[in-house]
Amino acid sequence: MPDLPALLERGPVVCAEGYLFECERRGYLQAGAFVPEVVLDHPEVVEELHREFVHAGSDVVEAFTYYGHRQKLRVIGKEDILEPLNRQALSIAAKVARETGTLLAGNLCNTNVYEPGTAAAGEARAAFEEQVAWAVEAGADMVIAETFSWLGEALLALEAIQAVGLPAVVTFAVHREGTLRDEASPAEACRRAEQAGAAVVGLNCIRGPRTMLSLLGRIREAVSCEVAALPVPYRTTEAQPSMQSLRDPERGGAQAFPTALDPFTCTRQELGEFAAGALALGVRYLGVCCGAAPHHIRAVAEAAGKTPPASRHSPDMTKHSFLGTDPGIARAYQEYAGNL
Ligand SMILES: [Zn+2]
Repeated sequence: MPDLPALLERGPVVCAEGYLFECERRGYLQAGAFVPEVVLDHPEVVEELHREFVHAGSDVVEAFTYYGHRQKLRVIGKEDILEPLNRQALSIAAKVARETGTLLAGNLCNTNVYEPGTAAAGEARAAFEEQVAWAVEAGADMVIAETFSWLGEALLALEAIQAVGLPAVVTFAVHREGTLRDEASPAEACRRAEQAGAAVVGLNCIRGPRTMLSLLGRIREAVSCEVAALPVPYRTTEAQPSMQSLRDPERGGAQAFPTALDPFTCTRQELGEFAAGALALGVRYLGVCCGAAPHHIRAVAEAAGKTPPASRHSPDMTKHSFLGTDPGIARAYQEYAGNL
């Protein structure tokens, strides 16, 4: 199996994210604290989801340690499961990656305690170091540091990855303000992460395809390394550019995040169009974050010219009983559907 830089040399790389939302929808993880205890409680569920994403075209199996860090576990009073949870998540992901010939990625994420120049910054650094060490022991091929809305925090995560010499993917989460919380623009943040040694820099989460695509051109211009784009599959708009800012008119303008986002879900076609648009800008590391389902991943993979195993079942409407054009379709049924 080639490493990440070698794989990117060959062509676009697809990475499925969004394990938290999908496990929550399946009833194995609680919205609110959003801690991935499912890794210990139901490892078979996590393993199956990894397999479904690979089947749909993911080249990377990202260990499900998102929000599995010390700070999150402290909030639910379970710091004692930190190490078993991380080791188990890595071992589940390693099993699927090795069996499917994909890349095993360790994962670091936003700590939600970091603030520049405080003791919490030191805590974040220590959390990243311990998680990276477990990823190395599990044989990770790369580490994804994701969903950072602070440049400073992302750079701490990157430093921990650089120290062990693994390729780092660093992606920023851009909230409605359009800048990071330490005021860097997304392009400037990516430039700084590239300078600090990241192999791939870009954006993940928070923004849907429409409001992420508009940020990618400047990032592509600002860096010379590969660029990543992994939006959430929700129909964000200029007025409501993040999934947190979406308001549902059918529910009296209530906030849709995080458990009522369904009516805003993008079609697979919209994700395919996003991927095509991002590729045209020169973005070559593509994926989908919170809300992703396998059909979204397949659409992204196919837009990147891939034919993952799931493409065997990509739609062929010519044989549909009413809407099809195949000679075997009864004419009366085509007529009934207004299809002639
Ligand atoms: Zn996400």
